[in-house]
Amino acid sequence: MDMPIPDAKIIAKKASVVERLQAVLPLNAVIHEDRQVKAYECDALVAYKCPPLCAVLPTSTAEVAAVLRVCHEMGVPVVPRGSGTSLAGGALPTADCVILGVARLNGVIETNYDDRFIRVQSGRTNLSVTGAVEANGFFYAPDPSSQLACAIAGNIAMNSGGAHCLKYGVTTNNLLGVTMVMMDGTITEIGGAHMGAAGLDLLGLICGSEGQLGVVTEATLRILPKPEGARPVLMGFDDNEVAGACVADIIKAGVLPVAIEFMDRPCIEATEKFANAGYPMCEALLIVEVEGSEAEIDEQLGMILKIARKHKPVELREAKDADEAARIWLGRKSAFGAMGQINDYMCLDGTIPVSSLPLVLRRIGELSKQYGLGVGNVFHAGDGNMHPLILYDANKPGDLELCEAMGADILKLCVEVGGCLTGEHGVGIEKRDLMNVQFAPSDLEAQMAVKDVFDPAWLLNPAKVFPLGASETRRIAAK
Ligand SMILES: Cc1cc2nc3c(=O)[nH]c(=O)nc-3n(C[C@H](O)[C@H](O)[C@H](O)COP(=O)(O)OP(=O)(O)OC[C@H]3O[C@@H](n4cnc5c(N)ncnc54)[C@H](O)[C@@H]3O)c2cc1C
Repeated sequence: MDMPIPDAKIIAKKASVVERLQAVLPLNAVIHEDRQVKAYECDALVAYKCPPLCAVLPTSTAEVAAVLRVCHEMGVPVVPRGSGTSLAGGALPTADCVILGVARLNGVIETNYDDRFIRVQSGRTNLSVTGAVEANGFFYAPDPSSQLACAIAGNIAMNSGGAHCLKYGVTTNNLLGVTMVMMDGTITEIGGAHMGAAGLDLLGLICGSEGQLGVVTEATLRILPKPEGARPVLMGFDDNEVAGACVADIIKAGVLPVAIEFMDRPCIEATEKFANAGYPMCEALLIVEVEGSEAEIDEQLGMILKIARKHKPVELREAKDADEAARIWLGRKSAFGAMGQINDYMCLDGTIPVSSLPLVLRRIGELSKQYGLGVGNVFHAGDGNMHPLILYDANKPGDLELCEAMGADILKLCVEVGGCLTGEHGVGIEKRDLMNVQFAPSDLEAQMAVKDVFDPAWLLNPAKVFPLGASETRRIAAK
């Protein structure tokens, strides 16, 4: 993966950049010693590492604005960072950048149960948003598997999803407004505590913009009353494609579970060893969860089980109580950690039309044989959001490149069947060079023209999202 050559002139003036930043922030908010900045050298795409020039940890919107003004004046690139859990390398630094971490911006500003919203600082973790309102019977719906760690800032930048987004939508469907600081330090308010946008839907533009347009410091989020009840059912199949066809049939029938999650045999085996969730050993598992009153749950599950039986499942296990429900979910939530015990892996993220699941699963199996690399599939099947985990050995020369080539082929396949390069993890550096597969040069030009408006100097996260060849003229002209 290529990165632009860092600007030697910026590196040479590190001492004065640090001095200017220290002048606008508390002393302990500027991290600049070599051994300390190493903590920021990567995100969850750990195959790529590069310590930044320095990192700053402001505690307010005003401090973020002050940092951006300094960097703007001095021509220093800025990489915004939430919790650093991006799997696409979105928060990967360059040697000439300032990492702007929002982890200390983690407070709750306002909760309003009548109008059903919460306003938080953007560094607050996803799970702690629900934590702030659950005693009053509310929750925040988007639930990335990383929700214990990832920040609302990163969720907004990546338009993150999760297991329960099939019913409730992803971040963009649950975001009402943001406070955002532009690269020149201007503070803007977009959206509010209400639905919809008067004028252009700028909020829709900001959500999923991967730190390209501004730094989000506060967010107003929709909160929902907790459902009366929920019940998952575990379904086992002796064939991946049959499980895929079952998902397609459930969606086609118009039933709307809150979640349909998929795991294949490599993931089931790894997870059983790791979490001991009591999963049956079979080729593919689905976890289908429905919500509502007991009567609603029974009715929906009745329809879903009828569809599932047509696909001859080897196991159908409906959770009888909260403990059994938790065990069903335990395996799924442990799957990523469990796969990491086998080998290094790269987690892909592409979306496909649900009806293409059987075909795409078969092709992934063929590609695995062709490249000689193991692959596990664990993903949000109801949304057609695939997460093949390609196993490789980071210590074996050439294995990472092989893994990347196989990943590229899988993502191209997603586009080929009418899907998209990314479902929820974003483009970052991981899929940056594949944007040419999804978009024509004129499409990329239009997208970069939007960045020109928000960040004319191309200082915000400049090495991400757009293929380096396509953005080169702009990045160089801005220097
Ligand atoms: C084990 C594991 C499981 C995961 N499961 C899921 C899942 O189920 N669903 C899912 O969607 N994702 C998942 N992810 C990916 C990741 O957690 C999400 O992309 C998450 O939203 C990143 O949040 P973060 O705070 O860690 O952001 P970071 O990694 O710090 O940054 C991500 C991007 O956001 C930008 N950014 C950060 N802060 C700001 C800001 N204040 N303003 C503007 N831009 C900003 C960064 O520049 C970067 O481009 C998973 C990751 C891991 C490691």
